[in-house]
Amino acid sequence: MIGTLARLREEGRCEVDTMRPRCRSEYLRAVAAARGQTGRGRVSACILLVEDEHSIGRLVCDYLTDEGYEVLWVRTGEEALAEVTRHPVRLMILDIGLPGIDGFEVCRRLRAHSQLPVLMLTARDEEADKVVGFALGTDDYVPKPFSPRELAARVKAILRRTDPRPSDDLLTLGDVVLARSAREVRVAGAPVDLTPREFELLCCLVENAGIALSRDRLLERVWGLEFPAGTRTVDQHVAQLRTKLGRPELIKTVFGVGYKAVGT
Ligand code: CA
Repeated sequence: MIGTLARLREEGRCEVDTMRPRCRSEYLRAVAAARGQTGRGRVSACILLVEDEHSIGRLVCDYLTDEGYEVLWVRTGEEALAEVTRHPVRLMILDIGLPGIDGFEVCRRLRAHSQLPVLMLTARDEEADKVVGFALGTDDYVPKPFSPRELAARVKAILRRTDPRPSDDLLTLGDVVLARSAREVRVAGAPVDLTPREFELLCCLVENAGIALSRDRLLERVWGLEFPAGTRTVDQHVAQLRTKLGRPELIKTVFGVGYKAVGT
């Protein structure tokens, strides 16, 4: 974060010359304003990052700021719950292990009055954390360690999925167009009949286009954690989708992982 500001100052695009721990919002606004003066890095959404570990927080903050987001970074759950009422936040990135109340409790209190999308950072890829997180209404999770690039892709996917603008009702992948509220799919303009599960699976893949999704993750997102079937179900539905769409190349098998939508 300091590095970003330093670069902007060197280029004469920012006048803020101090950065204290309590001034992150001001700092980030200064960065955004400095970029805005030159037309670079349009600020597209405000993200609240809740992370007490300095190195991770700084990495995520820097990366997402460079991607054009405004990032508010706080270290505790109490601060997060206060900040979320003061800013037009579109997404919360929430660490579980925090000083004071933990990420689960933050999510629980947030959900009492808000449906703000929450992306949870888990210390390990543990089933228990995921189950509790989803039960509390988190929208996605990223296990540590993670690459900032993957995190940014998931942020983008959640923002796209939860964008209130009606134009986002349409998803496209190549010449495949999905109208989510109408639950219609067209390939090169021709309607295609899908089962509800196939439709949900296709939505999930297209919303995360370019990201390899494991069979387990697809099971969780499309069928829900309570679904007793194995990952073979995913394979069968993907095979059906490829056949029905007539575009097998748009859903790529990622060896040893699962599937990825390509073509957008
Ligand atoms: Ca932590």
